Amino acid sequence: VSTLVGKTAIVTGASRGIGAAIVRRLSDDGCQVVLADIEMDATEETADSLSSPAVAVECDVASSASVNAMIEVARREFGTINFLVNNAAILRNNYLVNICDEEWERVLAVNLGGPFRCIRAVSPLMVEQRAGRIVTVASGSSAGMIGQAHYASSKAGVYGLTKTAALELARYSITVNAVSPGFVVTDMTQQLADRVRQDVGPYIEEAAAAIPLRRAGQPEDIAGAVRFLLGDDASFMTGQVLNVRGGPGPAAS
Ligand code: NAP
Repeated sequence: VSTLVGKTAIVTGASRGIGAAIVRRLSDDGCQVVLADIEMDATEETADSLSSPAVAVECDVASSASVNAMIEVARREFGTINFLVNNAAILRNNYLVNICDEEWERVLAVNLGGPFRCIRAVSPLMVEQRAGRIVTVASGSSAGMIGQAHYASSKAGVYGLTKTAALELARYSITVNAVSPGFVVTDMTQQLADRVRQDVGPYIEEAAAAIPLRRAGQPEDIAGAVRFLLGDDASFMTGQVLNVRGGPGPAAS
């Protein structure tokens, strides 16, 4: 029997890509899911396709009011919140010298501020329960990536946030970890190919050839790692960053 049956997970940025793969995996394992996303049409479609109870909630993770309202809806709908998966993020490609304040602030507000706001909002409930699991999706870009000063900085920030939250929440039996993908084929891949003015097909092939396992990551690869960190087998792991990149060393993205 899956340990996720009857549990509730909030997943941000759940409408497509890695977020959608995560909710599908959790739902297949019997978990009730709250799909929190800024774009409702696709999110409702994803929610409708799931096999377990699911609710789509409009949420901009860059807004505290929006995050707090989303957590409230989740609580009303399902009572307990066992898992939080911070997946929502935006990618903007720009050389550092061309990044305006507004773009810098938006990327940091969504990619780092989002996980912070969600952890802050959900942890009092988890503290009360004396149980909970939090996973944030980081990125290999945090090692440094041309055109991604803001994105890479936000994802490097996720490391500090994860480790600090893990230390502060450990005494309440709440674990806080991160999963750090490398190159994963999603809509973001198109943006990366556009950056180097390449068609997406050859772009993926080239990236795959540079990965030790000789294939690009799929959203399901990341969903599997998140599922592991939410399960009983990971109960003694906290403050860790799990690299899921098809090999060791710096990632392609
Ligand atoms: P994606 O296809 O662009 O999906 C991101 C999702 O987040 C979309 O549904 C998006 O909504 C939503 N979102 C954006 N801003 C939001 C906000 N302010 N509040 C709530 N939701 C918001 O991205 P992905 O490739 O699946 O990436 C998922 C995660 O993996 C991200 O954290 C990303 O940084 C990380 N990652 C991806 C790769 C990769 O190669 N794909 C590599 C390393 C790390 P819209 O549909 O409205 O845009």
